[in-house]
Amino acid sequence: MNDMKVGIVGGGPGGLGCAMSLAHNGFDVTVFEQASDVGGRNASIRLGDFAFDTGPTFLNMKFVLDELFQLCGRDSSDYLKFKLLDPMYQLSFVDREILMSSNKESMNKELERVFPGNIHGLEKFYVKEKARFEKILPNLRRDFSRLTSFISPKVIRAIPYIFAGGSIYDNLGKYFKEEKLRVCFTFQSKYLGMSPWECPAAFTMISFVEHEFGVYHVMGGLSQLSKAMAKVVIEEGGNLETGARVEELVTSGRKVTGLRLQSGEAYSFDYIVVNADFGYAFTKLVEPDKLRKYSQQNISKKRYSCSTFMLYLGVKKQYSAPHHNIVFSHDYRSNINDIVQGRLSDDFSFYVQNACVTDKTLAPRGKSTVYVLVPVPNNFSEIDWGEEKPGFRGKVLDAIEARTSMKDISDKIEVERIITPEDWENEYNVYKGATFNLAHNIRQMLYFRPHNRFEELQNCYLVGGGTHPGSGLPTIYLSSIISAGLISRHAKIGR
Ligand SMILES: Cc1cc2nc3c(=O)[nH]c(=O)nc-3n(C[C@H](O)[C@H](O)[C@H](O)COP(=O)(O)OP(=O)(O)OC[C@H]3O[C@@H](n4cnc5c(N)ncnc54)[C@H](O)[C@@H]3O)c2cc1C
Repeated sequence: MNDMKVGIVGGGPGGLGCAMSLAHNGFDVTVFEQASDVGGRNASIRLGDFAFDTGPTFLNMKFVLDELFQLCGRDSSDYLKFKLLDPMYQLSFVDREILMSSNKESMNKELERVFPGNIHGLEKFYVKEKARFEKILPNLRRDFSRLTSFISPKVIRAIPYIFAGGSIYDNLGKYFKEEKLRVCFTFQSKYLGMSPWECPAAFTMISFVEHEFGVYHVMGGLSQLSKAMAKVVIEEGGNLETGARVEELVTSGRKVTGLRLQSGEAYSFDYIVVNADFGYAFTKLVEPDKLRKYSQQNISKKRYSCSTFMLYLGVKKQYSAPHHNIVFSHDYRSNINDIVQGRLSDDFSFYVQNACVTDKTLAPRGKSTVYVLVPVPNNFSEIDWGEEKPGFRGKVLDAIEARTSMKDISDKIEVERIITPEDWENEYNVYKGATFNLAHNIRQMLYFRPHNRFEELQNCYLVGGGTHPGSGLPTIYLSSIISAGLISRHAKIGR
């Protein structure tokens, strides 16, 4: 162990990834997590004998997780059991359903069945988007803490692929004419909480990576990822303090020197890593006049993702619906516009996970877990969720019964939990309940996103969805690799 001490605020995927790497590199690491267990938005929710994932249910780009474990001298498969999902998911429009597959032969057949005459466009998509992905990926692995980061052949080569092409919806027009087919390859912008009509074309890489590398489930739920990472932290000699809410980052001038917990205890550290949600952390954990670029007022002017209304249902029945189901509203575009403009739609799109078709460990025999996610406006909308919650719950159950094969779900509920955008903000410390963090528009990407080496405070580093390269498990794991690398370098050579 070296004599450098690192304190990490938050034990979500970003904080745990960074803790694993730093502890493996010999740092004396302590993770402070406010909740009673690690994982954050990737933690497990238990309702009686039913187990749910709080947030992430799709593991994409599994090779990034594998890399993180390899950097710590480990094999992820020694800790976790993965299941490649084929089909990846079912997409339901009012007039048709399609099963999307990462198996190219099955995908071609299904496309021909549901959207005949489009195989040529699909082949073009694979080739062109592979080229884009190969140019962009090295830049997701780089630190963009300095403007000079742009002066590199890899970045220069990627610029046309990152900054040109309009929105992902425009980009898909190169491959497919039909609106619904374009939606099949662009709805993934919702993983970033953005509209396909606004999300930059660069993010077509999300649907590309699904088709190229597949979508995985983790047996026991994706929360097992955080549990496995926490295990590695402990094996490497790191400390995990749960039920430890950080109240303040302690500073001396512009340098962070430690942190203070809600309980009053204070600790000194050589480095602080902030994994807590960016907007929350820098409006709540530092004195209001400490920051300039990210003053409270400037943070409030940034653009943010949408939020989500969540229903976790433990039901007395097993359904045959696929593992992942995305149901589009009658008018998808107008639903997206409502979300962007801060209105609740009556006709909304939603996602239903029926994980027990793959994983029987999540519920008692003969029963199952049903996870429902409805994209809704974030809390800039000022929707009063105290008032809306019961009515909206009813509308969501009606929509599931009308649009999926779960026709009797209301009668089968044994236990349930709801998380509203207000709960995300108040219980999970997510700024404005924007569950997918700062938006990923061009002006908030790469160098223009809060830097991994936080630009306003010395010895302070960021990990998680609010820094580069962005929200989503694989990119969050990359943020932890980048930030751990920066800290290791700083400890060694002082910059
Ligand atoms: C509903 C939903 C679905 C998602 N689905 C997917 C998906 O399918 N696939 C995917 O790749 N990504 C998905 N994401 C996006 C993203 O991968 C996850 O949100 C991810 O868990 C975010 O990780 P993080 O480390 O940035 O933050 P978090 O998981 O929020 O971790 C931050 C941690 O900091 C802690 N904390 C906050 N304040 C304090 C404090 N004051 N003191 C101490 N600790 C504190 C929190 O409790 C939390 O544990 C989803 C997100 C949501 C919300």
